[in-house]
Amino acid sequence: MNEHLLNHRSRKDHAAALAAATAEVGRYLDGRTTPRSSASPAHLAAQTAAVDLSTPLGTLDKAMVEVRGLYLDHAVGYHHPRYLSHLNCPVTIPALAAETLATSVNTAVETWDQGTSACLIEQKLVDWVADLIEFDRPAQVTPDGVFTTGGSQSNLQGLFTAREDRLARPGPGGTTPADRCARLSRLRIVTGEHAHLSVVKAARLLGLAPDAVIILPGDGDRMDPATLDRALASVADAGDEVAAVVALAGTTDHGAIDPLREVGLVCRRHDVWLHVDAAYGGGLLVSPTRRDLLDGIGLADSVTVDFHKTFFLPVAASALLLRDRSGFRHSTVSADYLNPADGDDHAVDKSLQTTRRFDALKLWMTLRVLGADGIGRMLDDAIDVARRIGRTIDSEPDLELVRRPALSTVLFRPRPEACDPDESDALVRPVRDALFAEGRSVVAATVVDGRPCLKLTILDPELSDQDVAAVLADVREAARYLADGMRQATTAAVLS
Ligand SMILES: *Cc1c(COP(=O)(O)O)cnc(C)c1O
Repeated sequence: MNEHLLNHRSRKDHAAALAAATAEVGRYLDGRTTPRSSASPAHLAAQTAAVDLSTPLGTLDKAMVEVRGLYLDHAVGYHHPRYLSHLNCPVTIPALAAETLATSVNTAVETWDQGTSACLIEQKLVDWVADLIEFDRPAQVTPDGVFTTGGSQSNLQGLFTAREDRLARPGPGGTTPADRCARLSRLRIVTGEHAHLSVVKAARLLGLAPDAVIILPGDGDRMDPATLDRALASVADAGDEVAAVVALAGTTDHGAIDPLREVGLVCRRHDVWLHVDAAYGGGLLVSPTRRDLLDGIGLADSVTVDFHKTFFLPVAASALLLRDRSGFRHSTVSADYLNPADGDDHAVDKSLQTTRRFDALKLWMTLRVLGADGIGRMLDDAIDVARRIGRTIDSEPDLELVRRPALSTVLFRPRPEACDPDESDALVRPVRDALFAEGRSVVAATVVDGRPCLKLTILDPELSDQDVAAVLADVREAARYLADGMRQATTAAVLS
């Protein structure tokens, strides 16, 4: 018997392995007193390189000890109160229980003969999210959706569907294959300054021209509907076509939400596909107090929602929603061995993937335990924390608030005593790097209005004022130290 393969005979080994893994996670949680270890990249690279993959360890116990030293002891702890960097959330415990079920059973949500009830559960959740979006549609149009690996994949499929929808319609050049090629090179995607990089990547993968993505200057951090209106008119005037407008419901850095209703109305007037990237702001769909921030999202033709950001689920969990399910026909290819075109619906007909994880179960379990309000309240609380931090930073003379938080990010700069703006800018990266190297606090760095700044992304609803104060104290201390160093270096250079 092979005790390493899961079946009814290996249940004891399975239980022991999961108990050992759970104990190891407990050890990790207790031991993670800082958001990361201070081990250097060189040390970690050397220790990984030293593992001889041709010599198995033979037992799970030994492999676990090895992985502790290689991974867990140095993993960045997103749950830690001084990890305030990227859009990584603390995760719900019901989701982790769901992961164990789904990966142990190893269901592939693919065809009915593989997925059965899992397909039903995923479909019910997709319908639930579509209802939350409240797609604006005639009665005969039915929305639909599919789970994906993340916002990047959701955006890719949304834009792919938009491209196919556009090329299927009569355009300036007709719909023969040769016309299609000619039209493809003249397709444009119109978006704002703060679109996610996956939009540009999708344009590349979709075979559009290198200059296909038109970036509109914004009204502050948001898309300006009048500018969009003019841009759509001038694309048409030039004889080009717009595959899609991509509006943002929560930009990655600013959390800015485009005026979705006005943008949607402009798109309708020009008969142009609207894709709303709500990878970040999608959690507002279940917010008990802030759903109105997404007003107009229902005018979209497609929507990206990331459950592994503001729904507090482990990676990976995202979905692409379409206002009109018929758009999924562009993703469908039938094969005799899998999904014959016999009229049955198969999950694989809607997906870019074939074998696909049952990620929906994480959302299901979380929703059934906490309820929609329970999830939404966590995001609401995180936004409240971010706003409080914004006010704190704004009141501190040695910190400069760059934007009032729109969602749950805080953009700011260290400004130690007597620092001019150039010095303050020069401190941003070194401060972030110093904190990361030391491991005490992990914050992000970005560029706003052409100037570097630090970013805190708040997704921990329970973050306390003391936790925040500790991070800000680390930032200040590093900034003062580095500013002194910079001045001494300048003085030395002047004297020499
Ligand atoms: C995070 C993010 C994405 C990409 O999502 P992944 O899940 O990381 O692939 C897309 N758009 C926005 C606005 C995001 O913040």
